[in-house]
Amino acid sequence: MLSTDRRAPQNGVQHSGLEPLYREVLRRNAGDTEFHQAVREVLDTLGPVFERRPELREARIIERLCEPERQLIFRVPWVDDAGRVHINRGFRVEFNSALGPYKGGLRFHPSVNIGIVKFLGFEQIFKNALTGLNIGGGKGGSDFDPKNRSDTEVMRFCQSFMTELYRHLGEHTDVPAGDIGVGAREIGYLFGQYKRITNRYEWGVLTGKGVGWGGAQGRTEATGYGCVLFTEEMLRARGEGLDGQRVAISGSGNVAIYAAEKAQQLGATVVTCSDSSGYVVDEKGLDVELLKQVKEVERARIFEYAERRESARFVADGSVWAVACDVALPCATQNELTEEDAVSLVRNGVKAVAEGANMPTTPEGVQVFRDGGVAFGPGKAANAGGVATSALEMQQNASRDSWSFSHTEKRLAEIMRRIHDSCHETAERYGQPGDYVTGANIAGFELVAEAMLAQGVI
Ligand code: GLU
Repeated sequence: MLSTDRRAPQNGVQHSGLEPLYREVLRRNAGDTEFHQAVREVLDTLGPVFERRPELREARIIERLCEPERQLIFRVPWVDDAGRVHINRGFRVEFNSALGPYKGGLRFHPSVNIGIVKFLGFEQIFKNALTGLNIGGGKGGSDFDPKNRSDTEVMRFCQSFMTELYRHLGEHTDVPAGDIGVGAREIGYLFGQYKRITNRYEWGVLTGKGVGWGGAQGRTEATGYGCVLFTEEMLRARGEGLDGQRVAISGSGNVAIYAAEKAQQLGATVVTCSDSSGYVVDEKGLDVELLKQVKEVERARIFEYAERRESARFVADGSVWAVACDVALPCATQNELTEEDAVSLVRNGVKAVAEGANMPTTPEGVQVFRDGGVAFGPGKAANAGGVATSALEMQQNASRDSWSFSHTEKRLAEIMRRIHDSCHETAERYGQPGDYVTGANIAGFELVAEAMLAQGVI
């Protein structure tokens, strides 16, 4: 039995008539546990939609949604600085194009496999729908580990990766961007190789580009900023705000750094961040400039931060979620926040949790937050600001325009507010007020399902 089966909300998949479909997903995708988890989480909330809309059942929308339109797996050979040959595996899952071209990041991390890419691609369908910006869902990556690799090794890897992937991309077809292990440096190398092979300066084929050559101001900050803006909206709906709150953040990549920056701009004190070596507690509030220096410039480990800052201490063992806080923002990776962590956060009085990463909370953890009355923003909604700003980058590219940072930030704030309101209203419409998981899943699903119905059986 899957660990995800332990969760049994009253309106879960087993009460909705969707259980046979879920069993079929398990059978067809044996071993892809993260994908099972992501599908399960969505199906658990869709029962009431199917009760109201039997035609969706007849059109087999769920069966089609759970089967990617196209899955690409390819060999990525490359040569390291010492002349040794390496073989990695590349992936791109083009999941659903009902609302627009496939859109979603590339992840370079040793844990990447087809199941991980499918889970991320599946989530991306609903997240992208929620942005309201007409983008389909896809995801890709490789089990390549960029850690301790030189710039030239990363460049050669990216060139080899793109030498296969380019034929599947295009501004109206599939538009990748970054994710874990893929930032501005990698997007630069990927874009260069795409241009070289195709002989086309096609801005819209990748997002997250450098600001001087077609990138959007504010894209780097967007996921973290958006997550905090979403949190602020959730708190506002409860008559509070971020000002004066104590915030715990996990991770120290792009999402975590800019979540910390925005939270502190809004008056919160961010007391933690982490990486795979441990976590830092800084009671005075994170020095975001120092964090950027350590992680973005030096690409060093997080204990370096603690070594250079008097108010900070480094903790090598245990969970960052043991630190008491009012607001928790998991911004590291999938399933990093467990049931035990959730219990300890609730015991310590957490009021709001928003997922900056994709599916960082286990299903059991989510259930603890729901039972504990915590405002819980699932990643599909809370971290949609990154991909939304990618869509804004595509708009700028299409019109050969470039907007100011403040203009993009204003658009981002409007988008996050809209996403919040649509999740909030949808949850109310389905009799689950304050349940952002139900709201996000149903609101995203309705948009995709409508487009799929209209476009026929394809
Ligand atoms: N990887 C990011 C996400 O999880 C961004 C994707 C994009 O900008 O296309 O949404």
